[in-house]
Amino acid sequence: MKSIKIPSELKKMNEIFERNGFEAFLVGGAVRDEIMGKKASDWDVTTNARPEDVMRIFHKVIPTGIAHGTVTVHLLGHEIEVTTYRAEAGYSDGRHPDSVSFDATLEDDLSRRDFTMNAIAASLADGKLVDPFGGIGDIQAKIIRTVGNARERFLEDGLRPIRAIRFSSQLEFPIEDETFRAISDSDVQEKICSISMERFRDEFVKILSSKKPSIALKRMEDCGILAKFMPELSECRGIEQTDERGFHEFDVLDHNLFACDGAPRENLNVRLAALFHDIGKKDAKREETKEFPKGSGEFVKIVHFHGHDKLSSEKSAEILARLKFPNATIERVSHLIRNHMTFFDGSWSDATVRRFLVRIRPECVDDLFDLWCADMYGKHCVPVVPGSDAAKRMGLLRDKIREIEESQNALSLKDLKVNGKDLIAAGIPAGKHLGMILGELFQCVLDDPAMNEKERLMELARNLAESWNLANPDSSASE
Ligand code: ATP
Ligand code: MG
Repeated sequence: MKSIKIPSELKKMNEIFERNGFEAFLVGGAVRDEIMGKKASDWDVTTNARPEDVMRIFHKVIPTGIAHGTVTVHLLGHEIEVTTYRAEAGYSDGRHPDSVSFDATLEDDLSRRDFTMNAIAASLADGKLVDPFGGIGDIQAKIIRTVGNARERFLEDGLRPIRAIRFSSQLEFPIEDETFRAISDSDVQEKICSISMERFRDEFVKILSSKKPSIALKRMEDCGILAKFMPELSECRGIEQTDERGFHEFDVLDHNLFACDGAPRENLNVRLAALFHDIGKKDAKREETKEFPKGSGEFVKIVHFHGHDKLSSEKSAEILARLKFPNATIERVSHLIRNHMTFFDGSWSDATVRRFLVRIRPECVDDLFDLWCADMYGKHCVPVVPGSDAAKRMGLLRDKIREIEESQNALSLKDLKVNGKDLIAAGIPAGKHLGMILGELFQCVLDDPAMNEKERLMELARNLAESWNLANPDSSASE
């Protein structure tokens, strides 16, 4: 392959560069993806123009990383990162080069890039490829290889090994042997540990959005990175969960990894929940001898994990906080894990379904369904089969939920036909007991939606206040 097609917007950009006496090339992921026949997600351009030149010749330019020679050009509806050719010297902090020289050539610039497949440039004028490190051959051979000596390149920046692993699952390419061996080098391992949690998290999120995150997570386990960043997960290796009942094929770690593969790719919360949903099993595991099947007179070893949902939920919150995920993610993921063991067998009354909805929260229901499917996928790497018992049960529950939502039953305190002010006006003193009475009213309405009428609820509230010996609801007494 000698050239790639350059989109018309970038050709227009090139005209402006050329008119001003500069040259420019597309680089990085966009070139790699184009060679692979995939659509590029964003465009990175490299040029011999200095940042101040780029700011002068284009209309709208944001100096997003000017110290490193990067600006963002807004052109024809696109945001294009433009970086001046760089050569770098020394990386004493393991991330930022000690000095950046802008007196560099295109080849210098390509040589500072991480992997051969990311070190190919395409002329914006005609798409002609410049490939000094054999990147095209590596893409065709589907191999991830560093530019230059792997150990040295990883010691410059501890994020690179994580990027190698991320690309291995995003592209489903193996990592070349020497490159992979260098990741396990003890100095490199130390460098990896020194990267910021935010940088690790961003790569981890990209891993989770690949088709099969288990590929990267297993690589991370193999070279010790998983144990360093998420020991709670790596400790699940070897925690067996099979017993005579034969529910599980995999140990807890593989089950979690495959459940993560089975969660929807575009839903980060469910992918995270699936990945961590059983990490509490290591501590919850107990073995008992029990009669199985019941009444058979045969006693066998039974493995159980009572309470693992709560433990997994707590541990997941700790991991996510450590990895600097936003609070909303931590809350949602740990909530889903806390409730992943809810088992619907088709026999629930409408009131039970309403209580379930209140506990799960309507906005989390779809995620919980997805987590159940992911959990089932993680048992044997087989998706839930339409028409199976599990699919039928979930369909039934979905229908019941839809009916409840359509009938607009009260699903929170604010849906009640009375509020705190109404109770205070009836002489019930403000305070803890008033909250308890509202809670009781809500439970009654969950049991029987017909109760959600002002008069009926006020009567019930007065009775409760009386039976709890609160101040006389008919006088306007206070506490
Ligand atoms: P994608 O955008 O699809 O995630 P990408 O390869 O474009 O992948 P970016 O993070 O956008 O990755 O980086 C753009 C380019 O910058 C890379 O292709 C690579 O050439 C270079 N690069 C990025 N991070 C590093 C790094 N840590 N060390 C060396 N080069 C890097
Ligand atoms: Mg990119």
